[in-house]
Amino acid sequence: MSIQFIGVTKEYKNGSNIFLALNNISFEAKEGEIVAIVGPSGSGKSTLLNLLGGLDRATSGEIIFDGLNLSALSDKELTKYRRDKVGFVFQFYNLIPNLTAYENVEVAAELNKNSLKIDEVLEAVGLLDKKDKFPQELSGGEQQRVSIARAIVKSPKLLLCDEPTGALDYKTSKEVLELIDKINQIYKTTIFIVTHNTSIASMCHRIIRLRSGQIIEIKENINRISPK
Ligand code: ADP
Ligand code: ADP
Repeated sequence: MSIQFIGVTKEYKNGSNIFLALNNISFEAKEGEIVAIVGPSGSGKSTLLNLLGGLDRATSGEIIFDGLNLSALSDKELTKYRRDKVGFVFQFYNLIPNLTAYENVEVAAELNKNSLKIDEVLEAVGLLDKKDKFPQELSGGEQQRVSIARAIVKSPKLLLCDEPTGALDYKTSKEVLELIDKINQIYKTTIFIVTHNTSIASMCHRIIRLRSGQIIEIKENINRISPK
């Protein structure tokens, strides 16, 4: 199985001006890969992630993931895709401040609230012993681990990370990447990471470089340095 972008364009209209955030991009990646999206600010990285995550729709072109053509889904189906198949991780964690680590994961688990599953993901991110702490009692790296636990609790096939280490120092960033690598190996999750950090990109299986809404380089990282 693969992820395909086929001639994908995303326009933003601003009055009578049309801005091309993505300009006819095409690429293929394999399911199960960790893919880095790099490029200068404003080059379209978040737009690419949002389209793949079903948060927004392409203006034209097709996006195929997990056998689904996202452009052909109804709004309702797209919401279902996003809820069932996609986990999101953000730069500033977006945790709910008055809930504990456990509760932050629990609210994302929604319906089949299964305390074993919540403990399992907290264990996987190495925070089971801190599950009753509130976000402000945790370090930045630990808060990001909680947000990763929250993102994976519904076992998404796709994990989308927008600058997940942007607010962390080098050592903590590397630990977060080790965790992302472990999730990729254990759960076979396909992972896309937007990053400015070249050493993080060098640890990914594939690197897509954007500039001004176009792909200027896509390379399979055969000399990948595993984060360990
Ligand atoms: P990056 O993540 O690489 O910084 P983005 O994908 O966020 O880039 O944005 C690409 C371009 O699209 C930027 O120039 C940005 O200003 C523009 N853009 C993004 N979202 C919107 C929007 N909702 N409305 C108008 N322009 C947008
Ligand atoms: P809810 O179940 O609360 O209605 P949504 O369906 O709106 O949630 O969102 C599903 C996922 O998309 C959530 O993980 C949420 O964090 C993420 N999300 C929603 N809106 C945005 C946004 N504007 N930017 C980034 N992520 C978003």
